[in-house]
Amino acid sequence: MTKWVYSFGGGRAEGRADMKNLLGGKGANLAEMSNLGIPVPPGFTISTEVCTYYYDNGEVYPDTLKTDVIEALAKVEETLGRTFGSIDDPLLVSVRSGARASMPGMMDTILNLGLNDLSVEGLAKCSNDPRFAYDSYRRFIQMYSNVVLGIDHHNFEEILEEAKDDKGVHLDTDLAAEDWKKVIVRYKSKVQDVLGRPFPQDVHEQLWGAIGAVFGSWMNQRAITYRRLHDIPGSWGTAVNVQAMVFGNMGDDCSTGVCFTRNPSTGDNEFYGEFLVNAQGEDVVAGIRTPQQITIEGKDAQNSTLPAMEECQQEVFKELNAIRHKLEAHYRDMQDMEFTVQQGRLWMLQTRTGKRTTKAALKIAVDMAREGLITRKEAIRRIDPASLDQLLHPTLDPKAPRTVLARGLPASPGAASGRVVFSAEDAENWVNIRKEKVILVRVETSPEDIGGMHVSEGILTTRGGMTSHAAVVARGMGTPCVAGAGEIRVDHAARQMKVAGQVLSEGDVITLDGSTGEVFLGAVPTIQPEMTGDFATLMEWVDTIRTLKIRANAETPQDAATARKFGAEGIGLCRTEHMFFDPRRIIAMREMILAETEEGRRAALAKLLPYQRQDFIELFEIMRGLPVTIRLLDPPLHEFLPHTDAEIAEVAKEAGVDPALIRARNITLHESNPMLGHRGCRLGITYPEIYEMQARAIFEAAVHVSRETGRSVVPEVMIPLVGARKELDLLKDAIDKEAQAVFAEQNYAVKYLVGTMIELPRAALMAGEIAETAAFFSFGTNDLTQTTFGMSRDDSGPFLEVYRARGIYERDPFASLDQAGVGELIRIAAERGRATRPGLKLGICGEHGGDPASISFCQSAGLDYVSCSPFRVPIARLAAAQAALGEGNSSGTA
Ligand code: PEP
Ligand code: MG
Repeated sequence: MTKWVYSFGGGRAEGRADMKNLLGGKGANLAEMSNLGIPVPPGFTISTEVCTYYYDNGEVYPDTLKTDVIEALAKVEETLGRTFGSIDDPLLVSVRSGARASMPGMMDTILNLGLNDLSVEGLAKCSNDPRFAYDSYRRFIQMYSNVVLGIDHHNFEEILEEAKDDKGVHLDTDLAAEDWKKVIVRYKSKVQDVLGRPFPQDVHEQLWGAIGAVFGSWMNQRAITYRRLHDIPGSWGTAVNVQAMVFGNMGDDCSTGVCFTRNPSTGDNEFYGEFLVNAQGEDVVAGIRTPQQITIEGKDAQNSTLPAMEECQQEVFKELNAIRHKLEAHYRDMQDMEFTVQQGRLWMLQTRTGKRTTKAALKIAVDMAREGLITRKEAIRRIDPASLDQLLHPTLDPKAPRTVLARGLPASPGAASGRVVFSAEDAENWVNIRKEKVILVRVETSPEDIGGMHVSEGILTTRGGMTSHAAVVARGMGTPCVAGAGEIRVDHAARQMKVAGQVLSEGDVITLDGSTGEVFLGAVPTIQPEMTGDFATLMEWVDTIRTLKIRANAETPQDAATARKFGAEGIGLCRTEHMFFDPRRIIAMREMILAETEEGRRAALAKLLPYQRQDFIELFEIMRGLPVTIRLLDPPLHEFLPHTDAEIAEVAKEAGVDPALIRARNITLHESNPMLGHRGCRLGITYPEIYEMQARAIFEAAVHVSRETGRSVVPEVMIPLVGARKELDLLKDAIDKEAQAVFAEQNYAVKYLVGTMIELPRAALMAGEIAETAAFFSFGTNDLTQTTFGMSRDDSGPFLEVYRARGIYERDPFASLDQAGVGELIRIAAERGRATRPGLKLGICGEHGGDPASISFCQSAGLDYVSCSPFRVPIARLAAAQAALGEGNSSGTA
């Protein structure tokens, strides 16, 4: 019979840390801590399989679940000597979600469950604190009514405000037990009014209601959005943890907090955390009160005037610090822990691998490898390649002038400028409709804001600490965040913020520096990132492991230099068409297109030759003997012509032709399906003089640089969109002729290769024949995806969203390679190509070359290199090392 429920607590547990898939992260780690003898309030975990069962069977539970839960609850009662629903000494429980992957704040939680009109009296008696008991009961009614019964919060907030007004006080803490009793009566009658039935007094009914709500919240909109953003499959389901309540709000010898075994922002090996005296856990996360620091060091670093736990709760601090060391040594990774101190007694509520900034992740991985806690290979596996992106973003130019508006906490590093918006919805509108960059400014964020946070360049809150929702979510997203900038006043209704005597309205520009916590007026210029310190160290380790070479897609000297700086080992794709859009060149390009005769075209191309030659000279010089793959002209010619009347008039004037001629040429060149039209090698076949000019520029530049520097220069000339061997034969012949002509004229020869892109299914299938002529293949997976799916890369956005939402394709196949379909064509082409030409050089230069999952596929398909945009080179290096370690993410699109 399937086991649905797993107990923990009292120094033992039925689960273990490696049972995350079944128990969720929280449940598995609670079990592990119990087994380690760490004080954990007893409880039980209802497995993720129940969630899956529930959704697969029309939202009903497995038959035996009820009895399993009753048995597990009895064990908790026995461990604590308390009874659920008792009027003397009641057991209260929390009911929380816990998925395999952490989804902070996305699903529902219910605390203080088990209170009713009778058990509240029991709680009052045994806690000797009626005020606490009635406050807990009203919190429970409020939370349960909202989460389980669906009654809006504001109903209860209003009653609470009225109660405070009646008594002439401002703070909840000013209300006494008798006041709370009155609030409870009003809360219950509100429930009766809204629902037409009373608030449930049966504690078992309460428990099943809460369990149902947590399972239900797996499918709420924000959880679905979060899963989509983080590639978490809906089929995983969540577990439900039911656990005895411990109270951090029973007086001044009680507290609750969050701590990390190392600093999650910097990675420094120092105990780091925050806590609140006399509070419940959600008070810390909500960022409503300013928390105290765990350590004196932390207190000094934050310039806090509140005492640190190390000073004011010394015994608890010692115990917590010992648990910190025990857990980190056990898990061999930085832990994020939640705890509660009830009347001086410490209880651990959660431990999990701590989220960290990328900077911290690198430091922790490198430090732990040096400390001998993990191996270098483990250090490499620990870093998510995509997260390096955070370090590859610009930082503020230290020399740039700036006006500081406010300071807050440096909650998530990086610098960003954008227009201020004051709601998540406005953020999405400004970004999606007006195409503007925004900074989301909120008093505090909540899980509903997730969509708006995702599209924002930066997040600024006026309240909350380093572990507030905004801080945690921003760090996870790699979005710069300044939290708790208390000097700023947000007027949500007026869409304004006031700070330092200034009023900023929606749309005004500010800049955030999430690494220092500063907020600036206007846009502050930024500088490009460098690869130094732990980042550079890890990259050195990575390079000793990986077998795939990493090249960059680059055509400008600046891109090529950036690529080199980040460790690119060559250029895998130089798109020559980008070189023709320069204002001085586009004129000659248009002249060439408008020319009626070959002679006319040759005359225009002769004007382009010196520019093109100079482009290649610069690239060869920067790349210092590394391979440079140059792709000959690819896009349809009409992309270079003007289209609006004003542009046509201007170009006609410049070129000294009649505007009618341009219009006529536009009409002739018009295509219904340009991406399947007169482009790629088809241009080279129909206008051989274009490729001849480009080949000449390449060889003249190669000869020049080789002669000047004495270094070998080996250009790789690449023909796009080949579908038949014959196309390549003709074009290679022409290129070879041009090479011989240049070498003879210059009396100097260089080695070169002529190869092809594989961008069409036919090319992949005919790879055996094509390899007879091609010296290398480079998979142009942008076009290969487009032509394999029969789906335009430019037009598929709107329907692909629906396809992903409906689970037809889990990922965008233009971003992450469709390994099942397009991948199969790549394998076929590699195999057939190498059967003809053993050692055929194979690479990829589509966008997928910078995607870690696709890189892992490239490793398995036997490619020699991947080529990606310069800023993705470090990501690709790390992903390639992980692929070589067999740790890459190998899941594909379909
Ligand atoms: C490709 O098709 O994958 C490719 C790299 O070429 P482009 O994106 O320029 O079409
Ligand atoms: Mg292409």
